[in-house]
Amino acid sequence: MAHQWFGDKITCSSWTDIWLNEGFATYLAALAQEEYYPANWQEFKKNSIESIVSLPWGSVYVTDTTSAASIFDYRLIYQKGAMVLHMLRWVLGDDDFFDAVRNYVNDPILAYSFVKTQDLVTHLENQSGKDLTEFFEDWFYGEGYPTYTISVLQNGGFLDITLNQVTSHSSVDFYEMPIPVRAYGEGADTIYRLDHLYSGQNFRVEVPFIVDSINFDPDLGWLLETMTCHLIAKNLLLKFTQIRQVLM
Ligand SMILES: [Zn+2]
Repeated sequence: MAHQWFGDKITCSSWTDIWLNEGFATYLAALAQEEYYPANWQEFKKNSIESIVSLPWGSVYVTDTTSAASIFDYRLIYQKGAMVLHMLRWVLGDDDFFDAVRNYVNDPILAYSFVKTQDLVTHLENQSGKDLTEFFEDWFYGEGYPTYTISVLQNGGFLDITLNQVTSHSSVDFYEMPIPVRAYGEGADTIYRLDHLYSGQNFRVEVPFIVDSINFDPDLGWLLETMTCHLIAKNLLLKFTQIRQVLM
């Protein structure tokens, strides 16, 4: 059904941009699960991430349009394409993301005609006011995915969080992303959105309780990534429990 809009109403103008058909169709099917079958939705994200990170290379952008196997690569075009849309939704927020996609699919110049990835980018940028050049360089043209290491230390009413990142492929130096981190303790919890701009970046955030655990991207929320490890805080008051399934 999703293809009636993404694929038929608007059709990719080149095989390089086939994700505009298949990434959307995959993501829209998953959104139906998010709405009606939440357990399947979690499973969809888990399976997609496991598949995508099973190899360190590959872009959503198709570089060899003479190869049907490249054009219809399930891991890159369908799964990574869908996860790129999911991360755009995270970066923009639900309101701007869904409004931008509606504008894109209803644009009288694009509807019943052909589209390139830049047409989608233009609608996402116009709606959100954000510059997505770097996002698409990293996630669409670039290959691979990031792996994070997080270390956390409580100092009174503050948490000092250090986020490190390495990338799986030399085509991307660093994925600039907002990172969701949830802290738990004393029966309470609070979530932070950390604007991660370089590896080794330190964040100091306020926390109104003694933290006993940290959850990076809670519930497989938004990110395509892997975690290498969780560091035990040096502060003896804290012992962080293993909070997230390590995917590799
Ligand atoms: Zn399809």
